[in-house]
Amino acid sequence: MDDIRRVRPEVEDFEAYSPGLTIDEIKARFGLDAVIKMASNENPLGTSPVVQKVLCDKAGLAFRYAQAGTPRLAAAIAGHHGLPAGRVVAGNGSDEIIDLLIRVKARPGRDNIIAFKPCFAMYRLQARLCGVEFRQAPLGPGFSFDPDALLALADENTAICFVTTPDNPSGYAPPVAVLERLARELPPQCLLVLDEAYMDFAEPQEAYSLLPRLEEFPRVAVLRTFSKMYGLAGLRLGYGLLPEWLADYCLRVKPPFSVNILAEEAGLAALRDDDFVRATREAVRRGREFLARELGALGCTVWPSQANFFIMDLPAGAALDAKGVFEALLARGIILRPLASYGLAASLRVSVGNEQENAALVRALAEVLA
Ligand SMILES: *Cc1c(COP(=O)(O)O)cnc(C)c1O
Repeated sequence: MDDIRRVRPEVEDFEAYSPGLTIDEIKARFGLDAVIKMASNENPLGTSPVVQKVLCDKAGLAFRYAQAGTPRLAAAIAGHHGLPAGRVVAGNGSDEIIDLLIRVKARPGRDNIIAFKPCFAMYRLQARLCGVEFRQAPLGPGFSFDPDALLALADENTAICFVTTPDNPSGYAPPVAVLERLARELPPQCLLVLDEAYMDFAEPQEAYSLLPRLEEFPRVAVLRTFSKMYGLAGLRLGYGLLPEWLADYCLRVKPPFSVNILAEEAGLAALRDDDFVRATREAVRRGREFLARELGALGCTVWPSQANFFIMDLPAGAALDAKGVFEALLARGIILRPLASYGLAASLRVSVGNEQENAALVRALAEVLA
């Protein structure tokens, strides 16, 4: 092979994250004018009008570099959670924080990272890219967490344990006592990373999140994002609440301007936008109840969820399997998320939409299953 084509072995047969199809791709493929996307757990109400206005007003700032490390935003996030600003690292989506934590904490070829199976794909992809072994423990019945299975994987080279709560793709959230147990019993060098991308949707949060008591747990980090509850997935903004020593390392190695200046302004506005958060929470709660009832009436199994999405299994004996239903819905302009890549080939993940979208899904699914 040409010498010039030599790359790191981890990269050679790397398979990219598979994001699902975009609205424009579906429109073009099926000749549709309108497409409903319920596949990526985006906000059913779209982008907040308050944030849209801020983005327009601040558009003239786009020629500037943001302040390195976005300290104004970090301070606002810290204030929002009642934590010191030195604990906050904002990133280009929480994906960037996942990547940073792995690169800062895990030694290539030597350390390992543990998580449940299935889990959010980014942990495995970034671990792989970094040459770090990735170990997984199976989920229990009903997508529940078995802390013993996870603890059994840990050894003296376990750098990070990733736990997503509420979990993706299931929406399951364990009682906070399970997280406390992991925090106490993982080996002393192991960082427990609680990915709380969907915690804003869980009710009551104190029953599920360790964040209000983070100061009691020196080896725990929490990840949050503006992508879901705050409706800013396309702008790319997330953050980690880390032990201060770790935040310091992360800020030293992070590309200084990975959070762009408009994302910073949007994040500052979003944190004050209580009305939008309230409206989103209400829309998701109502939509989840409506879909559970109506899809249940069609014979589907809708798994309980604390997030803005859930897993749906098709009725026993349905004419089409999950892949067939996914494709039939696509042809009708509705995108769901197939879960074959998560090892759940018989299930589909549904992101809660707005009222019209939810009703359209129920109508289309009734046709497809008839
Ligand atoms: C959506 C999601 C994120 C957030 O990703 P961003 O990079 O902040 O958009 C993180 N973790 C999980 C499990 C998610 O589903």
